[in-house]
Amino acid sequence: MARDIVIRLEDVEKSYGAGNARTPVLRGISFQVNAGELVAIIGQSGSGKSTLLNIIGGLDRADRGAVEVLGRDYGKVSERDMAALRNAEIGFIFQHFNLLDYLDCLGNVTLPSTFGGAITDIEARGMECLERVGMAELARRKPSELSGGQKQRVAIARALFNKPKLLLCDEPTGNLDTSTGRAVINFFREINREDGVTLVIVTHEQRMSRVAERIIRVQDGRMVEGDEVRDWIEDAREEIDEVEQDDVEAAGGEA
Ligand code: ADP
Ligand code: MG
Repeated sequence: MARDIVIRLEDVEKSYGAGNARTPVLRGISFQVNAGELVAIIGQSGSGKSTLLNIIGGLDRADRGAVEVLGRDYGKVSERDMAALRNAEIGFIFQHFNLLDYLDCLGNVTLPSTFGGAITDIEARGMECLERVGMAELARRKPSELSGGQKQRVAIARALFNKPKLLLCDEPTGNLDTSTGRAVINFFREINREDGVTLVIVTHEQRMSRVAERIIRVQDGRMVEGDEVRDWIEDAREEIDEVEQDDVEAAGGEA
């Protein structure tokens, strides 16, 4: 039973700063994500979403509470084991893509191999990942020669390189136009369905209301579920229906 739980947080608290400047960011967050789930986290800017995601990914430490990810108790795991876990089993995707411009697309995608891992045929695996995101033909391009949507595809390919069990995405569509953002969200769903990867996505993207099994809202360092989230989902769905209706009309009226 426990093996199906990918993330378990219990009463997680986190503050930044010291003394009088100390501000609580997370004030007791508890939730669980099971294997194969696609969960969206929404909330206003500054509400603690990135902090929460960074704690789940082991990039930051909780002050209090329990964090268990992929069978590891973060309270007990060493920095070295944490780094290995991040590299081998968790993929990260960020708003600003975080690609290195002195490397081409293939170089960026195979970068995780420099930190170890089980992949031996590095170039072949890199090309396979680029193929997966429809970017194989641009393998030798530099990130500066790509559109935002293409950069994010390369970043997704890099995140998939080591065959992660969990993908953590922090506003992955924040720098993309609406239709590119929608395409990226649809692609995340595909990865979730076809590859069985568990996804946690921080996003404002309304399309998320169609694809996420669960939407969690962070507000003032606490989790909100229920009416407020339901309102957001309803509003988002209405807007999507309008946009899709417009698309249908623009395409000639055929549904
Ligand atoms: P969100 O991603 O929801 O916009 P964040 O988790 O980035 O929110 O930030 C939550 C709060 O914590 C903000 O007030 C932010 O200024 C503060 N904060 C985040 N990271 C740090 C840090 N490393 N040092 C100090 N304050 C931070
Ligand atoms: Mg953030």
